[in-house]
Amino acid sequence: MHILAVEDEPSMAGLLHSALSDEGHIVTLAVNGNDALSTALAGRFDLIVLDIMLPGMDGFEVARQLRKARIQTPLLILTARDTPRDIVRALDAGADDYLTKPFSLDVFLARVRAVSRRGDIPRSVSIEAGGLVLNTSTRRVTRAGRLIALTRREYSLLELLLRNKGRVLSRSAIVEAVWGYDADIEENTLDAFIRLLRNKIEAPGMPRLIRTVRGVGYALEEGE
Ligand code: CA
Repeated sequence: MHILAVEDEPSMAGLLHSALSDEGHIVTLAVNGNDALSTALAGRFDLIVLDIMLPGMDGFEVARQLRKARIQTPLLILTARDTPRDIVRALDAGADDYLTKPFSLDVFLARVRAVSRRGDIPRSVSIEAGGLVLNTSTRRVTRAGRLIALTRREYSLLELLLRNKGRVLSRSAIVEAVWGYDADIEENTLDAFIRLLRNKIEAPGMPRLIRTVRGVGYALEEGE
């Protein structure tokens, strides 16, 4: 594959370059946001690996500009920030996946393979799991074709869980992403919202979607 790697830190850039080259990829490096954007717009790449903290235009903005220019190249974001808000921000900006620094090279190469397998697909705004479909542009939610009315918070909670499908999210991570960083909510508020959401999306006879991970938090998983 022809991969554009965007990283301003020389040692990290060197590492990405050698790891990807060793796998047989052709690697073009960009060291700042503006350089990354012009290179990506001018060339044809199979994958873009994008750092967030860059001199000038940051990675979020590069991702947004690329998607705005209808460049649908798969995008793997590298970030030192791992708060749910930053992760949501990266995905909202158009990233296909993200990896938080520091990461192992094996995991990085596995993510590169996974993202590139998805190929140059049209950007879908629908997220699906177990017959549940959430459209992020219309904010319409259906399950098995039936429209589900959600409050704003219920919707945010569901979108967060769906975007992290298959991953366990801690209670504090969920509260921070849905209610905000300095939210002061009662201990059982999250459980109450999860219960409301379950009642709406897990109709009797349908596979369950939200799994309680005792002592940790919640995960959304496709029903069996
Ligand atoms: Ca950086």
